[in-house]
Amino acid sequence: MLSKTTMAVDGKQKVVIKGAGGRTGSLVFKKVLANPTYDPVGVVRSEASKSTLVKDTGVADSQIIVGDILGSNGAAVLDKAMAGADSLVIATSAVPKIKPLSLIPVILAKITGKEGVRPKFTFKEDQMPEQVDWIGQKMQIDSAKKNGVRKVVLVGSMGGTQKDNFLNTIGDGNILVWKRRAERYLIDSGLDYTIIHPGGLKDDEGGLREIVLNVNDIFLDDKTGPRSIPRADVAELCVQSLGMASRRAFDCVARAVGEGTPTTDFKALFAGMTKNCDYSDMDADETLGRL
Ligand code: NAP
Repeated sequence: MLSKTTMAVDGKQKVVIKGAGGRTGSLVFKKVLANPTYDPVGVVRSEASKSTLVKDTGVADSQIIVGDILGSNGAAVLDKAMAGADSLVIATSAVPKIKPLSLIPVILAKITGKEGVRPKFTFKEDQMPEQVDWIGQKMQIDSAKKNGVRKVVLVGSMGGTQKDNFLNTIGDGNILVWKRRAERYLIDSGLDYTIIHPGGLKDDEGGLREIVLNVNDIFLDDKTGPRSIPRADVAELCVQSLGMASRRAFDCVARAVGEGTPTTDFKALFAGMTKNCDYSDMDADETLGRL
């Protein structure tokens, strides 16, 4: 029997949003809430995130579960959220923190006109990408499977095919490597999935741009084409993927406002990209392969 906190409301499909306190995750939560087919349950790490979400959306307290999935009762937190759910959206990620002292050479470089000096980043010791983007996401996928969840939508990142991508150097975290490992785990899980690799995320208004899909980081080879996308458009892709884009993995960017036609027909968008991101290079690589 389903508990009160997890029961689908009015026959709606329950959608768990992990990372619902994050910038993309909170937009997904709000879009799911506004969609009459679905009912959201958010999972956040702090009471402060819960209060903000409750205040912003007016949802019942029971629709936000607070818990640290990397903590001692992480699996129980996930099982509570996932019970009776139709779908899961994963919008969590390790978040790097800037090393304040590394800003000094960056400022000096700005003054002297020296190029290529970047700030340094670090991750909290127990919240490295290996923990958050691999172990944490693996736990979410395992809990989804255990609880009979039908579909998982996973927000990853563009750049995963490039081992030397700058993002992997941040805080010695190899973030794209761990994200991609979780994606591969999801593909192998037998669950239905949509894996979305956004380009650089912006906080611009959604719905104003033409969204473009491709695969295998092809967008990164194009030095003049679009490489970014508003978080709101990624959130819309997540919600649309709940009912479409079965067993798909693709990259996404958005054209500048005024260039192209704003995307409204998501069925056509997904149908127009017939390829899926390829993960076969991981087979030959001991460090990337299936675990
Ligand atoms: P964000 O605002 O930085 O939010 C990250 C989320 O991850 C938050 O909900 C945070 O939870 C959660 N999180 C952090 N550490 C965690 C931990 N130890 N355990 C569980 N959850 C944890 O995210 P965003 O910038 O919107 O990005 C969304 C996704 O897109 C991420 O996967 C990101 O890597 C990816 N992406 C980002 C970019 C970019 O340009 N920034 C580009 C491509 C892809 P709390 O709210 O509790 O802190």
